[in-house]
Amino acid sequence: RIVKDIFSQLPVVVSHHLFINNQWQDAVSGKTFPTINPATGEVICQVAEADEADVDKAVKAAHNAFRLGSPWRRMDASHRGLLLNRLADAIERDSTYLAELETLDNGKPYAVAYTVDLPNVVKCLRYYAGWADKWEGKTIPIDGDYFCYTRHEPIGVCGQIIPWNFPLLMQAWKLGPALATGNTVVMKVAEQTPLTALYVASLIKEVGFPEGVVNILPGMGPSAGAAIAKHMDVDKVAFTGSTEVGHLIQQASGSSNLKKVTLELGGKSPNIILSDANMEDAVEQSHFALFFNQGQCCCAGSRTYVQADIYDEFVERSVERAKRRVVGNPFDLKTEQGPQVDQEQFNKILGYISSGKREGAKLMCGGGVAADRGYFIQPTVFGDVQDNMTIAREEIFGPVMQILKFKSLEEVVTRANDTKYGLAAAVFTKDIDKANYVSNGLRAGTVWINCYDVFGAQAPFGGYKASGNGRELGEYGLDNYTEVKTVTIKVPQKNS
Ligand code: NAD
Ligand code: MG
Repeated sequence: RIVKDIFSQLPVVVSHHLFINNQWQDAVSGKTFPTINPATGEVICQVAEADEADVDKAVKAAHNAFRLGSPWRRMDASHRGLLLNRLADAIERDSTYLAELETLDNGKPYAVAYTVDLPNVVKCLRYYAGWADKWEGKTIPIDGDYFCYTRHEPIGVCGQIIPWNFPLLMQAWKLGPALATGNTVVMKVAEQTPLTALYVASLIKEVGFPEGVVNILPGMGPSAGAAIAKHMDVDKVAFTGSTEVGHLIQQASGSSNLKKVTLELGGKSPNIILSDANMEDAVEQSHFALFFNQGQCCCAGSRTYVQADIYDEFVERSVERAKRRVVGNPFDLKTEQGPQVDQEQFNKILGYISSGKREGAKLMCGGGVAADRGYFIQPTVFGDVQDNMTIAREEIFGPVMQILKFKSLEEVVTRANDTKYGLAAAVFTKDIDKANYVSNGLRAGTVWINCYDVFGAQAPFGGYKASGNGRELGEYGLDNYTEVKTVTIKVPQKNS
């Protein structure tokens, strides 16, 4: 449907305004900001920049869409499901274009955007479409002559603030449960990657969501994002991003209206390789666990713990695999790794590589810039990493692997848990008792056994400790968009 520019062969941008009340709008301030192609550093286009005044407009629209008796509030739950299914269909229809636009704005390989991001967006929306008319309350046998039941009601206006690492997928993870349960949405998309979310906005309008149900605002965190977090008429905020900003979101709720807060934050996830694991598979999965999406995954396996008797071989093979990783033009189908998302992340990652060297980790490969323009970084592997090193404690969010050595299971579980984070973890072993021991002992919201980054719209995802509050996806994901109302009716005579 959408043509490419015949000279550059890049996708044409059709939506770069704010989406409020099903209309395209300029920012009240008239301000715009550039969005950059990270593969070249060139500006793709200017995008309208929302700030507090625009957030206010969007919240009013969402609030109005949520008023009693509105088309959205009166709509059959099954019809909400139908609209979500139609949105999934429209995204599927335009998935070539959307994958190209995602690659242009984010830098991720097109082959990945098309085969991983897009299908999972569609599946997520279809999954939640199915829930729309199945999210049931209960009838409850309380004492006395009463009839008691619960209703699952929407919370109201939901602020949703999303990051740039999986722009479309994070949008779907947020919209699916919020809309299935009947909420309205004011979403602030990441300033690095606003384009695909805005195209999806055009599809939201096309498939017939009533005006004001979904509002999408590109803009900066400290202005537009903060305005959502502290807004008195926003009933809930769902945030995905850094732990640092997660603290601010929770504080803003505390000092405004105590809006409900769910957070999906950072991680420093341990990936534990026992000596009985299938070596070839463990090496490949551990490589994928860290390097997937340019290392820009909240759940990246960024502390690879390897048992002492296989450590040397594992490091050698991991280095050999990292050296083979194909870095380059993300539109080339052979490319495994594109650029980092922006100059800021690029600089930050190079800073962590310097700290690793300075603090005495052994640089086994990579460590530098991979191209003369754009934000490309060489696949990098550090061996002999110690638990107290900065690269073993902080989230690098880049293609930098840390390999650590351990001896016993008890030791590795203790060390793996010695972090403020608790998002994900993995263990590779053929021994079911060891797998159980490790997976039960780990303080993390997701544990993968002999696999990594296996997601399903049906399975919940979220963090222990400073990795977040609440769960996204699956049935559990509905709870965080639901108020439970208990209704009790006096009856003349109850019969059991
Ligand atoms: P960030 O937390 O600053 O940004 C995430 C989102 O929050 C963006 O939409 C941003 O505009 C918004 N935001 C920023 N400041 C805000 C504020 N004060 N109030 C409200 N919203 C605000 O993340 P970043 O700066 O893009 O990346 C920094 C680090 O965060 C990365 O290096 C990585 O470690 C981590 N990160 C994690 C995830 C994840 O999936 N959990 C995603 C992106 C980044
Ligand atoms: Mg930031």
